[in-house]
Amino acid sequence: MIEFSHVYKTYPGPIHALKNINLTVEKGEFIYITGPSGAGKTTLFRLMSAFDKPSSGNISVAGYALDQITEKDVPYYRRKIGVVFQDFRLLSDQTIAENIALPLKVLGYKQPIIRARVDEILEIVGLTDRLDFYPNQISGGEKQRTAIARALIHQPDVLIADEPTGNLDPDLSLEIINIFEQINSEGTTVFVATHDINIVNKSGKKRLHVQNGIIGTL
Ligand code: ADP
Repeated sequence: MIEFSHVYKTYPGPIHALKNINLTVEKGEFIYITGPSGAGKTTLFRLMSAFDKPSSGNISVAGYALDQITEKDVPYYRRKIGVVFQDFRLLSDQTIAENIALPLKVLGYKQPIIRARVDEILEIVGLTDRLDFYPNQISGGEKQRTAIARALIHQPDVLIADEPTGNLDPDLSLEIINIFEQINSEGTTVFVATHDINIVNKSGKKRLHVQNGIIGTL
């Protein structure tokens, strides 16, 4: 499902953000990537989400060769994945339901289908009573759950999240992780970058560690 082979990412400087990353994630796995600030987690997340390309090496996710992907193919690839950012990235002038529906609107789905799917996903993330609210009327945890619902609305094969609990207190973090675990139990591959060791230890899931751009197990 996810394969990195001899992946390097060097920023101007030069800053060697990732060095010889080799990684295989099978379909249906749940993987945590931990590591201190500056270790390379976000760079990994950006490469995996096709926001950036590696300097060298090969990356394959959901059947797409991301090191060679063209601008034209990126929207098709994004239909296969769901991406959750630490800072939510919700549209402030759209309701919770509208924010969540956005990916399906872009894909041209008809309104009744969108409505049914939004209702379903709101139920999963526990936001049914917030659908007509605007982002500035809900809490941080609810915003993150909205962002997760938006990432899952098109039923992606892979969910990729960068520090999804970074702005949340421990109780809310646990709620978010519970949603990820539920989605994973239904077959979605989940890849979460975090510096929250407590969450990882509690989960018992597979953990990879990045330090100075090098990946390993602990
Ligand atoms: P993490 O997410 O683990 O905190 P990052 O992937 O953001 O780590 O950063 C890894 C390294 O790459 C750091 O040294 C960071 O300063 C550097 N870096 C990240 N993005 C850029 C960029 N766009 N340009 C230059 N250097 C960057």
